[in-house]
Amino acid sequence: MRAIVTCEGCGYRQMVARQLERPETFHLVCHGCERTLLVTVTAIDMHAARARSWSKTAPARTLSRPVA
Ligand SMILES: [Zn+2]
Repeated sequence: MRAIVTCEGCGYRQMVARQLERPETFHLVCHGCERTLLVTVTAIDMHAARARSWSKTAPARTLSRPVA
């Protein structure tokens, strides 16, 4: 699936560049404010993306404050 991450700092929405095959947590640098975000993709997110097969895209959550 693909994930869209919304920055907690500036609200910038960006697509994660790589395909996600399983739930995972990773860091992403915001293209808007260049802060580092911790992104968590859960099994529930994966399931939601599969259910919407027309897009296979789901909003991912940032579960912590930016760590920059
Ligand atoms: Zn930002």
